[in-house]
Amino acid sequence: MDLAVDIGGTKTFVAAFDEDSLVPREVSQFPTEPHKGFEDFLRRLTETGKELLGGEQPRIWAISTAGAVDNDGNVLWSPNLAWKNLPLKQTASRFFGDRGFVENDCNAAAYAEAWIRGSKNLAYVTVSTGIGMGLVLEGKVYRGSHYAAGEIGHTIVEEEGPLCSCGRRGCLQAVSSGRGLENLIWSLTGERLSCEEIFEKAKIKFEPYSKVVSRGAKVLARFLTNIVDALDVEVLVLGGGLTKNEFYRNALVEYLQRNYYATPGKKISVELSKVQPNPGAVGALLLSRRRFGGIV
Ligand SMILES: [Zn+2]
Repeated sequence: MDLAVDIGGTKTFVAAFDEDSLVPREVSQFPTEPHKGFEDFLRRLTETGKELLGGEQPRIWAISTAGAVDNDGNVLWSPNLAWKNLPLKQTASRFFGDRGFVENDCNAAAYAEAWIRGSKNLAYVTVSTGIGMGLVLEGKVYRGSHYAAGEIGHTIVEEEGPLCSCGRRGCLQAVSSGRGLENLIWSLTGERLSCEEIFEKAKIKFEPYSKVVSRGAKVLARFLTNIVDALDVEVLVLGGGLTKNEFYRNALVEYLQRNYYATPGKKISVELSKVQPNPGAVGALLLSRRRFGGIV
């Protein structure tokens, strides 16, 4: 069997697949709890992996993780996990064998979404607590010169905008992400509301909720319009919790479809994520199979 893992800031998803299948045979999840340290996390990961595989070694394994990952499977840095310079692939190989691959979660998800659609140029954007992007260009994952391509959460979209967790002002994440919207409402009203609660109030045009959400969606939509125009991708895939909210998603899609630069014959398809149950884990598995065998 093959093993695929997605390490998120809150939860780690683990799934066992029959060889050449993309439908998991068994799935498990556990809290990542990165503060307990990398060794402790690995112990829990290998226990869960071995349980799913009935004590056997996987044929092929794959891990998608938050953070920048180099070509040797080292996690260079991951603000969400507070991990730095970790030899993730090398360490995981001790338990799971040599046939493994580690990829950044957004890159892996983009690859899975492109693979399932047969698309050559695709951007995958995830909007939840933070904002991230993965790119497949000319059929390949684009990682950039410092393995940081797609790090759009901390690009500045407003000079004097709200303070961001990175210490700067006006980052995309501070204006448009789930945490950004929650913090903005908190600073304006003193209320600690969840994003869902904010969306409910915004939907009935209640101020300042409506204004904050519309501005967040518009700023992100303008940014994504520039991305699809600059890279001329054919599909933009929306993932992450916030894009499941119809009100927020519609605001994004409507702006984008109205404002992208429509040169002759150009059509941009904005779609929701199609890959189940976890695009990052499935994408990493596809990349690992491409390297070591099996269907791709
Ligand atoms: Zn920032």
